[in-house]
Amino acid sequence: MSKLGLFAGFIFCSNLFISLPLKSASALAAWALTSNGSLKLRTSSGAKLDAFYQSSTTDKGDRVWIDFTGELSRPRTIKGNGSVKEIRLGKPSKGKTRLVIEFLPSVELEPSKLQLIGISTNTWELELIGLESNSFRPIEEGNILRNSIKRTYEKIKPQDLDISSLPDVPYGKYKVVIDPGHGGSDPGAVGINGLRETDIVLEVSKSVSDFLTNKGVKTILTRNHERTLDLQPRVAKANNSKADIFVSIHANATRGKRKEVNGLETYYYSGYKGYSLAKNIQKQILIVSPQSPDRGVRRSRFYVIRKTSMPAALVEIGFVTGTYDADLLRQKVYRDKMSFAIARGILNYLKISK
Ligand SMILES: [Zn+2]
Repeated sequence: MSKLGLFAGFIFCSNLFISLPLKSASALAAWALTSNGSLKLRTSSGAKLDAFYQSSTTDKGDRVWIDFTGELSRPRTIKGNGSVKEIRLGKPSKGKTRLVIEFLPSVELEPSKLQLIGISTNTWELELIGLESNSFRPIEEGNILRNSIKRTYEKIKPQDLDISSLPDVPYGKYKVVIDPGHGGSDPGAVGINGLRETDIVLEVSKSVSDFLTNKGVKTILTRNHERTLDLQPRVAKANNSKADIFVSIHANATRGKRKEVNGLETYYYSGYKGYSLAKNIQKQILIVSPQSPDRGVRRSRFYVIRKTSMPAALVEIGFVTGTYDADLLRQKVYRDKMSFAIARGILNYLKISK
């Protein structure tokens, strides 16, 4: 049995604390096991969760369970389907709630890659890596979306930049074009204390490329030093290379250099694949900068993602003009985490793309 890492903890304003009655109700409000293999949870705000994994034994398959504070009123077992044997809700001890998912013995999860991620103060997600998507029909109880709280202040542990923690894809199978925005005579956005977009995105792009290369992905950088490069040759390079995907990396700015505007966003132009690529990247970068607003996955007609012939995304890794983002983008440690997150998003996408 191993205890899973809790990726994000939370800091709350003190007025969010409400004194609980002596015998408190279960913190678990709703749960859903989605057919793409992720377990979503909605809890009371600020609930404490512990996640565990146990590998299969002779008579039982892999199990994952989550313990919640508060006592469950009605223990029950829900019959699974496909690769999910059953789901049990019980009270392992007084004042506790346990949600157990038991898989068929044929399922082999990858425990080192399982992480319970705090999405907001009352929503959680655990990607069941190793579980084949669509190997079962979705199972859920309660409404996972009702009363879900938007992301607020979160504290994360220093991100582990260990290459082996990145998802594996078949060695040598994929080719990815990484496009550092701007360059040379065009520095891109220039922000607080002269922080330049071109410098940041060139370094981040090279790091993303290095992380991917380490995982056996072939990469092509549209530029690998400080030089001027038009949009058209970037697209031509991507299209001629027959790459699987194209990712352009930028940093944002507001016209009036408004310091209060911060946030992360990822663009795509069309198609589900482009959307999925953008979504996977956005999901990961939000984790490394939890206090930077989530500006979402958006459609746009940017030339480089519109003219490229493969699934394409353009990621904006923060505002060089925003106080919060600029402070982070100035730090090498943060830029490395951001690069790692983009690489993880790309690998997650490649893993699910066919
Ligand atoms: Zn830009």
